[in-house]
This record gives sequence, structure tokens and C-alpha cells, in this order.
Amino acid sequence: MEFKDIQCKSCMTKSKLTDYVINPYTGCMHGCKYCYAVFIKRFQDIKAQWGDFVYAKANCSELLRKELEKNKPGHIWMSSVTDCYQPIEGKLLLTRKVLETIAKSPHKNKFTMDILTKSSLVKRDFDLIKELNADLGMSVNTLNGNAARIIEPLASSPLERIKTLKEAKEKGIHVYGFISPVLPGITNLAEIFEALQFCEYVWVELLNTRRACLERLMPVIRKEFPDAVKSFDFVINHPEEYYNGIKKEVEMLGKKYKLRVQEIVRHDKD
Ligand code: SF4
Repeated sequence: MEFKDIQCKSCMTKSKLTDYVINPYTGCMHGCKYCYAVFIKRFQDIKAQWGDFVYAKANCSELLRKELEKNKPGHIWMSSVTDCYQPIEGKLLLTRKVLETIAKSPHKNKFTMDILTKSSLVKRDFDLIKELNADLGMSVNTLNGNAARIIEPLASSPLERIKTLKEAKEKGIHVYGFISPVLPGITNLAEIFEALQFCEYVWVELLNTRRACLERLMPVIRKEFPDAVKSFDFVINHPEEYYNGIKKEVEMLGKKYKLRVQEIVRHDKD
């Protein structure tokens, strides 16, 4: 694993996904096989494999102080292209420093916030998440621990993630589920909806079928989940039909478990 400290030019960045994103790290140790953030490697000319490098933005919270003052009000999402609670955060505390900086800022009321992770390390920061009135989400795409270990090698197990979310809710934090990505032939939406029914809402994100994502993911699927290959082929070749089927299922499950579905997120093909 390649670690290094880097200096970034900004901490809060404007995003198409929401108003602002904060990514305290470049790269992610969780190394999920389907991760769409692999495009970062191309932009920054990084040779290491996704999951094998983490660059810590050491000056992140220092820049944030001024950005909170000068930026327009809006929503902040942590994080869009990294997991802000990946294992190295336990040592470096960059995410905690970001949350502390926002909590101390006289401008904090200009912003709403949500945090999305796959790590139970987030428990460490429940105090600040509560203080900031931020929503906390966990990504889950299977409840099968063995499958998760293959496709999301260093993330917390799915059951640990759900337990962490329940603990957050008990502390009065607003919690949501992020069912992402729906892996054809692997993700069982019915059992995940049932497990997440205590959440305030869920997002459902479909698989990103861009070439860079599939190039990493498909060898793993062929080797470890051969029975799912046909389902993947269907999704890749019949995206509309697939989407309509998922939409129907999600609507039915949302009603059954009285769980608000925020959105079904789709990605354009390249
Ligand atoms: S946790 Fe998120 S950012 Fe990290 S590898 Fe997995 S999908 Fe990518």
C-alpha cells in the first residue's frame, strides 16, 4: 500500500452530484471492485492499482476554515470519490478534523451535511455528526459477508455496517441506507430493504457500466460469481428493461417496508 501526504488546493469542491463534496483522501483502501472513482487515476496519472494507494490531503481542514466563510450556503457530502472512514483515518483523523472545523465555524449554519461510508470507524465521530445534525448513510449491496469480502475487501462487513447505523439512530442521528451498486445476480433487494427498514430513507444506485468499471469488476464476477455472469450481460445489453424491472421492485419494497426511496441513481454508458 502506497501512503503519502499531499497538499490540496481546496477542501470543499463544487460538484454535479450535490452542492459541495469533501474528499480528505485521494484513493481508497477499501478497494471495492466496482468503484467508479477509478477515473481519478487517469486524471492524476497514478500508476498504482485502485485500492493500493492513499494520498492524505494534510492541509484539508486548514483550507476549509476560509472556504466555509466565502462559499455560498449549500449541502456538503462526504465523500464522493473516497471513503472518509477507510482504515488510515483511524490514524490520521483528517475526517475528524474536517468535522471539528465545521463544528467550530461561525458559518456552519450555512451548510447541511451528509456522510456516507462502509466503515464502522464512523462510530468514533458520532458526537460530531450529531452536533452537526448531519445525516449518516451506509452503503450496502449484499448481506452476504463472504461475497462482500471479495468485492469490498477492506470495508466493514455488511452486518457490522447495519449495526453501526442502528447505533447511530439510537444516538439520535438521522440515518439512511445507500443500496449501491445493485449487483445483478448478487444483490437481493428484498432482504436489504428488510434489513434497512429502520432507516429514514434509502437511495438505490444501479451498477456503473462504464468500461473502466467493468474492466476491473468482470474478471472478479467471472471467477468468483460465475452464476451471476448472465445477469450482468443482461444489464449491460438491456439497460432500459433492467431499469424498469428494478424500479417496479423498488417501488413495491418501499411500500412494503414503509421506506422512502430518495432516488434510483443511474449512470450513462460511455
Ligand atoms: S468505499 Fe467507495 S470510494 Fe472506496 S473503493 Fe469502495 S466504492 Fe470506491
